Amino acid sequence: MKDYWLYLYPETFLFIDEEKLLLYHSRDYTYLEVDFDPFVNNLYINLTDITNAYCAKISEEDLLVYSDFIAKVKAIGLGDLVQSPIQNRPVSYPPVCKINTNLSVIQDDYMNRRAGYIIDYLRNITIYLTSDGGGLTTFYKQTIYPIKGQNRLAQCDLLHFMDYLKGRSVDINVVCDPKHLIEHELLFQSFKQRHRVSLYFLNSKLSNTRQNILIPDDASVFVICNGNEKPVQRNSYSYIFLITNESEFTYAQEQASLMENAEIVPIYTGNNLDFFKDNVFTTKGELFSLHLTKRKVFAKQQLNTNFFGKLTILPSGNIYSNLHEKPLGTIKDSLYEMLYKELTDGYAWMLTRDKKEPCVNCRFKFLCPPISNYEFAIGKFNLCHLRGSE
Ligand code: SF4
Repeated sequence: MKDYWLYLYPETFLFIDEEKLLLYHSRDYTYLEVDFDPFVNNLYINLTDITNAYCAKISEEDLLVYSDFIAKVKAIGLGDLVQSPIQNRPVSYPPVCKINTNLSVIQDDYMNRRAGYIIDYLRNITIYLTSDGGGLTTFYKQTIYPIKGQNRLAQCDLLHFMDYLKGRSVDINVVCDPKHLIEHELLFQSFKQRHRVSLYFLNSKLSNTRQNILIPDDASVFVICNGNEKPVQRNSYSYIFLITNESEFTYAQEQASLMENAEIVPIYTGNNLDFFKDNVFTTKGELFSLHLTKRKVFAKQQLNTNFFGKLTILPSGNIYSNLHEKPLGTIKDSLYEMLYKELTDGYAWMLTRDKKEPCVNCRFKFLCPPISNYEFAIGKFNLCHLRGSE
């Protein structure tokens, strides 16, 4: 009986669950699935054994039974088959990301009280200056949206907090009623030095504001339109249409097609799960059209690219990495300590799909879009048409 070596190329990722083995090529974006059985299980164990160099021995008997699968592995360019012992055992390298260096640098940095590196991870802060937007209570937990209430962020505390960001490039989103902009001139002066600033206003507040709005130099303006609202038109503004059903979706598409910068954002209301199933849940076709490179798959294995580097400050002064969880601290606490907490034992930045049921047991977990606020709002993590969601 002849033996063969089956080996996979370094671009080929190997994922498994109780149903199938999935091979994904991170340069050609091709993939192959095969039903799970004892042979496939054994193949997986051998290929992922570090001492085997991404290579597994196949008997002539198995080759006959699995000839179709192995032919496809070769045809799609996921790996190759050579005869043993005529050719030496091939050596390949499985795609593995070495992450521990980063975490140990963070820990070392923190233990030695060198704040340097840790703050570099912060890329974006959303600041709710006031909570008088009259918005529905939970929308702000899904997307940037003014909050209902009476709180106002203390300007002196915020200015003090901004000292942490001196000399850093952090994007700042500011949410407030446009008529309150004038009260925060000092704050915007401090932003100007280094940060890219985006202002978020409700369309309804903008259309009700009679006086001239003093937009700080270089700030971008985003206008949030609910449902079928008619947007206040200004050439330089960008528009965000929040939609909760099909008719709002159609209206938003019509409006967006007339604008230079417009985005459509679905909102979960508690009663529109079918709308989400039809328009937001991931399908297999969408998943494999994402064309994920090796780097992107590594990123999905290590961190949450939706949440990473972002913080939100509410008018109460509480600071969050995830608005569905507890605050990391308040605006009066040390930013270094909050970032360390988030990176090492946090709620969002490192929230990969292998930390949540049922995704942890799914072969697509490192290919799927990262967990977003929708999963928390809906209360389930498999927003997909691939595994157990129907
Ligand atoms: S959302 Fe979760 S269960 Fe659905 S395909 Fe992605 S990883 Fe699998």
